[in-house]
Amino acid sequence: MGQRRAARVSRSGLDALLAVTLAPRCAACAAVLDAPLDGPVCHACWSAVRLCAPPFCRTCGDPLPSWRIISRPLEQCPRCRRHPLLLTAGRTAGEYEGSLRDILHAFKYDGRRTLARPLGRLLLAAGADLLRDADCVVPVPLYVWRRIGRGFNQADALAQQLGRPVLRALWRARATAPQTGLTPL
Ligand SMILES: [Zn+2]
Ligand SMILES: [Zn+2]
Repeated sequence: MGQRRAARVSRSGLDALLAVTLAPRCAACAAVLDAPLDGPVCHACWSAVRLCAPPFCRTCGDPLPSWRIISRPLEQCPRCRRHPLLLTAGRTAGEYEGSLRDILHAFKYDGRRTLARPLGRLLLAAGADLLRDADCVVPVPLYVWRRIGRGFNQADALAQQLGRPVLRALWRARATAPQTGLTPL
């Protein structure tokens, strides 16, 4: 038996043992995990994530319903055309609904730090064109009490997955309203 095969067999054996003895549950859907060593979210939940497919607004990164309705030279969504944003470019990895929303909740509010790696992969894929020329990434900080409450800064954990130097250049001087519930403008 080759070393790799032996490692695979022992890993699946350990997965089965963990699944039977501890029965850890998926952090998103609460189903018992078949392969706990693969992470805290089950394969079904990852498969159900709806990634954003082109076309995108080249400014905010929101998905556009069709190439037909956009102004080709601008390739912008109606909102960015009506109200220019302060940001130069944004990208969207997936729709904040269903499975991805549950996974993000587990990441942000349930302290599941190991989700940074698979979520970072989604960001890397969605933002590849912007990250290619980036000198560094700057995570948005949390206000100190919120960081204590959450255990770690999720933006920082994601930034570390993007293959660029992480520059912690910002400091949040006061608490601001949570992003949830805010409008884009
Ligand atoms: Zn699940
Ligand atoms: Zn836009």
